[in-house]
Amino acid sequence: MKKKLSILVIICVTMFKSITSNAFEQSEKYLKQIHEKVIYLTFDDGPSPHTNKVLNVLNEEGIKATFFVIGNQVETHKDIIRNLQKSGMCILPHTDTHNYRKIYKSSEDYFNDLNSCKDKIKSVTLEDSINFVRFPGGVRNELLKKDVLNDIKEKFLEDKYYFIEWNVYGLDAERVPKDSYTILNSTINQLKSTPKAIVLLHDGYGNANTANCLKEIIVKAKSLGFKFKTLEEITEKDIDYFIEKSVINKKD
Ligand SMILES: [Zn+2]
Repeated sequence: MKKKLSILVIICVTMFKSITSNAFEQSEKYLKQIHEKVIYLTFDDGPSPHTNKVLNVLNEEGIKATFFVIGNQVETHKDIIRNLQKSGMCILPHTDTHNYRKIYKSSEDYFNDLNSCKDKIKSVTLEDSINFVRFPGGVRNELLKKDVLNDIKEKFLEDKYYFIEWNVYGLDAERVPKDSYTILNSTINQLKSTPKAIVLLHDGYGNANTANCLKEIIVKAKSLGFKFKTLEEITEKDIDYFIEKSVINKKD
């Protein structure tokens, strides 16, 4: 009887240890995910000849990024899209025309433009893109009226689409173009105040300065302890974090 009892105690202790160590590992994993410093580099308005340089730098540094592309330019630079895909970059729709006056007239105009962009991406990658988009000019731009925006948002919600804004911006799409030094410094300074960043940069026709300072941005961000991921690799926890911060599905 005594022997049976001690066997039972040993079994119970072993089970308890395994349950608590599992729970500990789980909570440690959870905490790690919450506190992990992550950068989601995103490039808008490509592909353009500058995308090649951006891609070379990313490959040299062994990191992946996300590209919100313009459909009309996808048609012109199919080879660049294929190279992005081969290198494991995440390719997502931005717009077909980038013509604010045309696409923000109504939600119908917006979705015609977006769907055409998605079709052009798929005709090259032969894959459907995941459910993330970025509004040209971001959600808050003067040509996107509230009623049109609300219609678009409603449809996104129905189709389980996320619209992605940013919490770090390299200042590389200003009317007066910024030099590489300014783009680098503004990006790094903003990175210092956030553990998780969706970084807005550009690889369009006018964005040579971004490509020129990208390597330094990456090297400095690495030294600050950031890991790089694409939006395809984003965790539920990070999605929640960015929704809470109004960086994904930005509130009014
Ligand atoms: Zn854009």
